[in-house]
Amino acid sequence: MSRPTCARIDFGALRHNLSVVRNRAPQSRIWAVIKANGYGHGLLPVARALSGGVEGFAVSSLEEGLCLREGGIRTSVMILEGVFSREEVFQARQAELELVVHAESVLEHLEAVREITDWPRLWLKIDTGMNRLGFPPSDVQSVYPRLLSLSREPPGLMTHLAMADRTDNPMTRVQIDRFDEVTRGFPGHRSLANSAAVLNYPGAAADWIRPGLMLFGVSPLETVSAEALGLEPVMTLATALMAVKPVKRGDTVGYGATWQVRRDGWIGIAAAGYGDGYPYHAPGGTPVRVGERIYPLIGRVSMDMIAVDLGSEPQPVGTPVVLWGKGLPVEQVARCASTIPYELLCGVAQRVRHEWRGSRVSETQDGYATNRCTLPL
Ligand SMILES: *Cc1c(COP(=O)(O)O)cnc(C)c1O
Repeated sequence: MSRPTCARIDFGALRHNLSVVRNRAPQSRIWAVIKANGYGHGLLPVARALSGGVEGFAVSSLEEGLCLREGGIRTSVMILEGVFSREEVFQARQAELELVVHAESVLEHLEAVREITDWPRLWLKIDTGMNRLGFPPSDVQSVYPRLLSLSREPPGLMTHLAMADRTDNPMTRVQIDRFDEVTRGFPGHRSLANSAAVLNYPGAAADWIRPGLMLFGVSPLETVSAEALGLEPVMTLATALMAVKPVKRGDTVGYGATWQVRRDGWIGIAAAGYGDGYPYHAPGGTPVRVGERIYPLIGRVSMDMIAVDLGSEPQPVGTPVVLWGKGLPVEQVARCASTIPYELLCGVAQRVRHEWRGSRVSETQDGYATNRCTLPL
């Protein structure tokens, strides 16, 4: 048997979550946001599992978009960061990718290639207050016609919401109102909502929603659990106990001897660490599922291992361990480690073997290969 660390990806759960999203915004088309290697779940496998169920895929970069096309994905693909150079313009057009035009620099790259004026839909991104990407509202009048002349369709109109995970703050309403106001009278599809907005601001679903996190079965809301939303975790990061040993009161555990044993008992060593994407900053007490129960992490996280306090009862070597996923929501682990579930999911390391289940064929891929474009899947 090889090292047991693996990311099990449940496509049944993925498709179930898609149906939850669909029910929340039944009138809207869906851009499934699968940037960052499908939030760590595997770009192409995820796209293939969702194919036919969504109207499009949104990714960050041209590379990711080309990867989808090379993998045989024919659905609409949106490139959220647009293009970075004139060279990318040719490749994007050839692959029929829909570009987000978020700044003058992107528009200039497009206009520099005079022979291409038949783009599929280009998306005019408007900065309504997040101050990340997008043209200021005052530029819409002048930018819209430039996009219109480059494309065979009216430009799409989009913005991104900075605080849609909260309902106790007026910012989202301000952003939505600003968007409505500056786009009034311009024909074209509209898109505003990420996962949190799909849940908290259903009135902003518009023509296209852009859910990411929710599809992967994770709650984008601080105060509502994924379970309460009817979502199922897609990724389970799992391993097993590789050593179990007795410890005595006063012994220390791990690097820096930061953990001191308070009572005679047993500890388990699980085969996963920060080299696999488990957060180094997870403090003692972070929940770890061993067999059917939750135990506290103890001591510092190592590159390849963590230690767990098993109390007075040993568990056999080989006992399955869940770091997050089924039976232990990634939201809980993220909270303990002072981070967000997004970072944990997309930080799963290259070396971790992915096992995709619930697709037509069961696929296992050496971890190092998950993000390559030429997958023999
Ligand atoms: C990542 C991203 C999304 C998806 O956000 P979630 O919170 O994962 O639903 C939507 N729109 C844009 C522009 C994004 O960058």
